Amino acid sequence: MRCVARAGNTHYNWPVLRKLLYTLLLVIGFTGCASRLPAQVPLVKPIAEDEEVRISREFRRQAKKQLKLVRHPEIERYVDRIGRQLLSPMGPQPFDYRFFVVENSQLNAFAIPGGTIYVHSGLIEKVKSTDELAGVVGHEIVHIKARHIARISGPDPLSLLALLGVFLSGGGAQAQAAGAIGQALAATRQLAYNRQLEQEADALGVKYMADAGYDPKAALAFLRLIDQERVLNPVDLPPYLMTHPLSQERVTRVEAVVHSLRVGATKREATDPIRKIQTLLRLERDEADGVIEQYARLLNQNAKSAEALHMLGLAYQYRSRWKEAREHLERARAADPQSPGIDRDLGRLYTQMSEFGPAHDALERALGAEPKEPLNHLWLGELFEKEGKLSEAVLAFLRAHNLSPLWPEPAQRLGVVYGKMSRLGDAHYYLARSQLLADEDELALANLERALKISGPNTLRGQLIADEIAAIKARRR
Ligand SMILES: [Zn+2]
Repeated sequence: MRCVARAGNTHYNWPVLRKLLYTLLLVIGFTGCASRLPAQVPLVKPIAEDEEVRISREFRRQAKKQLKLVRHPEIERYVDRIGRQLLSPMGPQPFDYRFFVVENSQLNAFAIPGGTIYVHSGLIEKVKSTDELAGVVGHEIVHIKARHIARISGPDPLSLLALLGVFLSGGGAQAQAAGAIGQALAATRQLAYNRQLEQEADALGVKYMADAGYDPKAALAFLRLIDQERVLNPVDLPPYLMTHPLSQERVTRVEAVVHSLRVGATKREATDPIRKIQTLLRLERDEADGVIEQYARLLNQNAKSAEALHMLGLAYQYRSRWKEAREHLERARAADPQSPGIDRDLGRLYTQMSEFGPAHDALERALGAEPKEPLNHLWLGELFEKEGKLSEAVLAFLRAHNLSPLWPEPAQRLGVVYGKMSRLGDAHYYLARSQLLADEDELALANLERALKISGPNTLRGQLIADEIAAIKARRR
């Protein structure tokens, strides 16, 4: 696994970095990267990639404590799918990209060196299409891929720390918390690079969107949207945008790039899942009543709206009103029989209702349409597990794990099922896998050590585990 292979050496003070990262969390943003002064970006040798990976991992560990991350398999998979689709035409990357959703109403998304991208729920709820969101994610990927922060900060990780402080300079109390380094550099030339890098992120992001089959015009629509938000709803904007409004120049440049692109066929999903994801975000915030009210109204206007029926079904499911959930999801399927998303949700609902036959039928249809969607395999595994067919559950979870090896969820489920089968070595091993993917090294170490005890040090598995333990210990500070 790549995530444990980088023992690496480190040259700087991690407690200091941790402190700076705490204060950085809400500051770097998609809308917050523009600046006033155009300048050339120096072609310095950026910091080593392993250091960026380390920064990303450390940031994620802190972010889990400081930010409210949305942990819902369908939502996690949705942003991951967008990210992977954007990355796929780019070929092999020097590090693993990870995508997260933060429960926060501000329109924002931000990128951390080393491949970690956070998208606010407020932004997902505001966009009109997945293509618009892909525009933002593409822009953030460019900041990471082109190593913008390292290019501004220079080759020394310490100056990267300083730069992270600079990002805080507009934040008053936050800036003070960032300490002397950030304060000292806040007024220097450092900020001047951002405008050029911002233009690069806009231009390349739009190009990557088109390469990946998204509609690049959606990036323009998004820029106009945040401009509109600035006027209509300044309270909800990231602070940086209020002092650095979106420039017409930025929009004009993106327009020029979009027009210069020869856009091929877009790889569109049959139904854009954005409405469903927006609804799930509200349901996760316990807003089922509001969702029911909204979509009941829509259903009144159009009794055959598959979308209204689908969303109502999900909302009733959240309220454990099984009969109504079932009725609405079945009607949604009748209204839109080709939707793998509806079949997947039906399969999950039937599983929860212990109606195993219909659950298998629905999930088989979903798998027929989307055989490589890890969620379909995950819910199939859950169904087998509930039926007590544990070997089949293992196979389904393994498929989900292999299709999305950086997602902790399938590995975690594998650990649990192996536990039920009394295969404790495997149980500890997969629990450790999921904990490593979730950046919980201490818990992972404990489970790996138990797995090693059970496997014995002289087996192949035992040797692999011993290597992993050594690698994790080497990177701990
Ligand atoms: Zn940017």
